[in-house]
Amino acid sequence: MSKRVYILYTGGTIGMQRSEAGYVPTPGLADLIAQKMPLHLSANMPQYVLEELDTLIDSTNATPRDWWTIADRIRQQYHHYDGFIILHGTDTLAYTASALSFMLQGLRKPVIVTGSQIPLCELRNDAQDNLITALLLACQYPINEVCLYFNGRLLRGNRAKKIKASGFDAFDSPNYPWLGQVGIHIEIHQGALAAPSPKAEAFEFPEYGQPRILPLRVFPGIDTSFLKHVLKQPWDGLLLESYGVGNAPDRDPAFLDTLARAIDNGTVVVNLSQCLYGRVEPGSYATGAALMRTGVVNGYDLTLEAAFTKLHHLCALGLDPAMIGSRMEQPLCGELTR
Ligand code: ASP
Repeated sequence: MSKRVYILYTGGTIGMQRSEAGYVPTPGLADLIAQKMPLHLSANMPQYVLEELDTLIDSTNATPRDWWTIADRIRQQYHHYDGFIILHGTDTLAYTASALSFMLQGLRKPVIVTGSQIPLCELRNDAQDNLITALLLACQYPINEVCLYFNGRLLRGNRAKKIKASGFDAFDSPNYPWLGQVGIHIEIHQGALAAPSPKAEAFEFPEYGQPRILPLRVFPGIDTSFLKHVLKQPWDGLLLESYGVGNAPDRDPAFLDTLARAIDNGTVVVNLSQCLYGRVEPGSYATGAALMRTGVVNGYDLTLEAAFTKLHHLCALGLDPAMIGSRMEQPLCGELTR
């Protein structure tokens, strides 16, 4: 029997049309696909159903609530289809792919998130190829995780980053090998793929509200008064993007004391590297070691997107800060390597 794939169109360039103000998300993508892509003529194509969210968005407007809604659609349809495709804007696609991975833990079917840099309505576009390949990946390959497919690259969703504003090769996963590469042939790198979960799916759907998580990039001259000002807000989490292997200034003890006090008061502070490649290695420099002594959590090689969505997820579960900190340091679904 032919495989069945569920496609959810959430908005994004892939289905946008021109307006006076620039490209805007536009309903009716199923009709446009039927007009431009005679998928039914190919025996390799699965049967598919395409649904659109009631409110299509430019993914710039996405919130954690949208991640939840998308994951919930997959949960509702999970037993009716063999694979899932999420059509999404590229701007926050890596956040959504990461968030889906934390909600859909133990997944035993492919979930492929994709989009495009040029809309399908244009004659020359990358939408058609991204969608066709995503359909093949969603129905023919033993994928058990949330992936991002874009321009010939199959990436782990919670390792992916948008690295180019306007190239077709807009995504990469700097700290994890590609899961597959698509040229004339589709090559899947079995060794990099997540193994199927031995247990039943362990989906987690806590209520996703407004995040109280702040990414804060360390910069030359960052000082105690600035940090104190920032920490006046009751943040659940601070993603401290430090230099290199996890270093932050240690010349002013009050700076580190301020961080330590915020941690004592329940803010989970995660040490992430600003570098695209590499990881936090806290023992390498005295500056990094001093930062770790404040009680910050080691973010290892997490992307900012994975760290943000993971922290949001753990906070939504209602865990206490110590438990959140310890889970941040453990891989939940392949998002970090210790
Ligand atoms: N602003 C668009 C979006 O994220 C960009 C894109 O889809 O490429 O929805």
